[in-house]
Amino acid sequence: MTHAYDDTNIFAKILRGEIPNDTVLDTEHSLAFRDITPKAAVHVLVIPKGAYVTYDHFAREASDAQIADFTRAIAEVCRREGLEEGGYRLISNVGEAGLQEVPHMHVHILGGQSLGPLLAE
Ligand code: AMP
Repeated sequence: MTHAYDDTNIFAKILRGEIPNDTVLDTEHSLAFRDITPKAAVHVLVIPKGAYVTYDHFAREASDAQIADFTRAIAEVCRREGLEEGGYRLISNVGEAGLQEVPHMHVHILGGQSLGPLLAE
């Protein structure tokens, strides 16, 4: 799969400050903000600041510092949002089969309620 990055996507615009976002955490290499259409009581998106299209693109080509920052950003959001005790779910939709809408790598953090089965029946 090719990973040509389209910098007109909505998360690139958020990173450039062209459209607003509800920031939860801003680190050197990552940004976490609330999903505009929340699917759970807590629904936060975490994105790397680098130009990565998918999870596999990021995992292969990001620096160790970017990957460590991103991984720790997710954990820090879970802590700040009070999700550690009750649990939560991480999802990264990729490509056509994953129904990825925004072609900038992101992980959904969902929690604050019981989340039901992994996939819609
Ligand atoms: P997906 O690419 O399918 O994993 O999901 C993209 C997610 O981005 C969806 O849950 C949208 O609700 C969310 N989204 C789209 N535009 C914005 C925005 N401007 N601010 C916050 N979340 C957004």
